[in-house]
Amino acid sequence: MSNSNKTKPEKPSNKIQNKSAWLKFLYVGVENESFSEDARRILIINLFTLVGIFFTFPLGIISLFTGKATLGWSLVFIAILYAANHAFLRFFQNHSLSGSFVIYPLYALMIYLVYTGGMNGTGHVWIFCVPAVSLFLHGMKQGLTELGVFTVALIVVMFFTDNYFAEFGYHETLPSRILFSFMVVIFLSGIYEYSMSRFNDELKETTGKLKLLAYIDSLTGVLNRRGMLQRLETKEQEIIHLLLADVDFFKRINDQYGHDAGDYALTKIAEIIQESLPEHAFTARWGGEEFLMALPEGDVQEANTLAELIRKRIDGYEFSYEEQSFTVTISVGVASTAPSVTLREAITLADSRLYLAKHSGRNQVCTG
Ligand code: GH3
Ligand code: MG
Ligand code: MG
Repeated sequence: MSNSNKTKPEKPSNKIQNKSAWLKFLYVGVENESFSEDARRILIINLFTLVGIFFTFPLGIISLFTGKATLGWSLVFIAILYAANHAFLRFFQNHSLSGSFVIYPLYALMIYLVYTGGMNGTGHVWIFCVPAVSLFLHGMKQGLTELGVFTVALIVVMFFTDNYFAEFGYHETLPSRILFSFMVVIFLSGIYEYSMSRFNDELKETTGKLKLLAYIDSLTGVLNRRGMLQRLETKEQEIIHLLLADVDFFKRINDQYGHDAGDYALTKIAEIIQESLPEHAFTARWGGEEFLMALPEGDVQEANTLAELIRKRIDGYEFSYEEQSFTVTISVGVASTAPSVTLREAITLADSRLYLAKHSGRNQVCTG
C-alpha cells in the first residue's frame, strides 16, 4: 500500500531575502529567484545607481568647486537621475524603462566628456565602459545599433569639432587610437554578449526540460508522485475525487513473464487509464504499480462509474509481450475531498478503501 502521508514538496528558500544589505540593494526589482537575463540587467541598473551615488555625485561636486559649472551640474544631474531611477525600479519594477534611463544619459555624458575633456582632459578614458553596458542592457541587436550611432557621434566630436585634444597637448594620433581601441572593445564585448546569450538560451532550454522530467514518470510518461502533488495542491480549494488503483498480484506477472513484461503492462495500464479519463482529469504513477487519478469535476457517482469503467477495461484487455499473453486486474479505492476533508485525508481514505477492495477479493472498486 502507498505511503500517502508524504510531506509537501519544499518551496525553495528565499535566496534574495537571505542576502546581505548590499546585495539586496543590487537585486531591487528582481522578481523571482532565478538569475535570468532580466535579473542580470537589473543588477547593472542598480550598480549604476551605486556609481551615481558614490562616484558621479562627488565628481560633480568637485567639478563645481573647481569652476567647471556645466560639467559639475551635468554629473550631479546624472547622479540624481540614477538615484531616482533606482527608486522608480523599486516601486514600479519596470526594468526596461529603467535601463533606458541609465543608458541614454550615459551616452550623452560620454560624448560630452570627450568633447570637453572632462577633468584635466581625461574625459575620453570613461568611454570604454559604454560597449559592455550597452550590450548588457539592450542585448545584441539594439545594443550594437546604439553603439554604431555612438561611434559615429564619437567620430564627429573627435575629428570634426574644435575639441580639447590640441588644448592639452596630446599627440595628434590620440583620437584615432581612441577610436580604434573603442572598436576593439565593442568587438570583444559583442563576442562576450553573444556567447553569454547563447549559453543562457541553452541553459533555459535544458532547465525547462529537466523541470518537466522531474514531474514525469519516465516509464509510463504520466505524472509522477511529485508532479501529482504539485498539480493537486494548486486545486486545494475545490472538491476533487480521487481514484487510487493498485495492480493485483503484480509480483506474479513479473515472476511469470519477466520484469520487462511487467514494465510493458504498467505502460499499457497508464495508457488505458489516460484514454478513459475525461478532459479535466489527470493521473499519476503514485508508486511501483499504483496509479492515482484525480477528477476535479463531476459528482461522486461519476467518479465511481469511472473507476468501474477503468477496472473493466483493464480486466478485459489482453496484454501481449514478446509472444506471451496475459491479463491483469486492478483494485480501486475512491474518496473525495470536501470542505472538511483535506487532500491528504482524502488520499489516506482512498488508500484504506483500496486496502478493503484487496481484502474483499481484488478486481473491484471500493467507494466506502
Ligand atoms: P497485491 O494484489 O496485494 O497488490 O499484490 P502485488 O503482488 O501487486 O503486491 P506487492 O506489493 O507484493 O508487489 C508489487 C510488485 O510490483 C513488486 C514489484 O517488483 C513490482 N513493481 C514495482 N514497480 C515496478 C516496475 O516499475 N516495473 C515492474 N516490472 N515491476 C514493478
Ligand atoms: Mg502496491
Ligand atoms: Mg499490487
